Amino acid sequence: MRRLPTALVLGGTTEATALIEALAPRIGRDLDVVVSFAGRTTRPTAPAGTVRIGGFGGVDGLAEYLSSTPVDVAVDALHPFAAVMPCNAAEACRAVGVDLLRLQRPSWSTTDGDDWAPVADMSEASAEVALRSPQRVLLTIGRQELDPFRPIVGPTFLVRSIEPPDLDGAWAAVSILDRGPFHLEGERDLLARESVDLLVTKNSGGTATAAKLTAARELGVPVVMVERPPKPPVLTVSSVDEATAWIDERVQES
Ligand code: NAP
Repeated sequence: MRRLPTALVLGGTTEATALIEALAPRIGRDLDVVVSFAGRTTRPTAPAGTVRIGGFGGVDGLAEYLSSTPVDVAVDALHPFAAVMPCNAAEACRAVGVDLLRLQRPSWSTTDGDDWAPVADMSEASAEVALRSPQRVLLTIGRQELDPFRPIVGPTFLVRSIEPPDLDGAWAAVSILDRGPFHLEGERDLLARESVDLLVTKNSGGTATAAKLTAARELGVPVVMVERPPKPPVLTVSSVDEATAWIDERVQES
């Protein structure tokens, strides 16, 4: 039986899920799809395709996987803040000659009335917070990268995350457990009710968590915007249609 071309999708994002949904009707007909998750969340699911979970073992492990599966095309549909895997994917794909596409949502950008301080990472973000001496800071950066903010004395930190954060230590911090999508009315209400005078966020892009930026603009709350980590240059698209067209082209050639 003829082997179908195989696409590897490096997932863990809504874009990856949308891509798999678009490819689903073709799976087993003219394409096989493997969806790879890091395994950070319990029981990750994909709408179709073969799911594999866990790291590959660095560049060499991924190169070995690409050759032995074998994989014909790969799509980096990782989160914009995934810093290591995009580099591993670019290097391994180059090493074994697998075409790689990045599917990534565009960054947020400023509009009239925004007051953003762009910073490169969490350490710069914490320095910016300390410099501004705010009273009430809303941290919407998840729960894994709180350490740079713990030594800051003065403000109260409102830490919004999906899973409970570790707020141990001497710092003044309060947990807000919530999961997007977030809507404008709720975000306005949160900023006003909690007297937030500084917002810290990652530039994730997308619509699910963008309402806080509109609310901040309306209420005159400044934003410390942590920009995305640098990535190796790879052909990048922002829509599922572009990604499926790219896969079609590659698959027809193979
Ligand atoms: P990372 O720093 O780029 O990757 C760390 C290691 O995790 C990689 O070296 C790789 O291990 C493994 N890995 C990452 N993504 C993988 C995947 N899709 N399949 C198999 N192994 C993977 O990534 P991260 O920031 O820890 O993110 C992990 C996952 O969560 C990614 O799938 C990402 O899309 C998703 N995510 C991240 C964020 C964020 O803010 N960083 C937010 C939402 C979702 P090996 O070297 O052993 O192969």
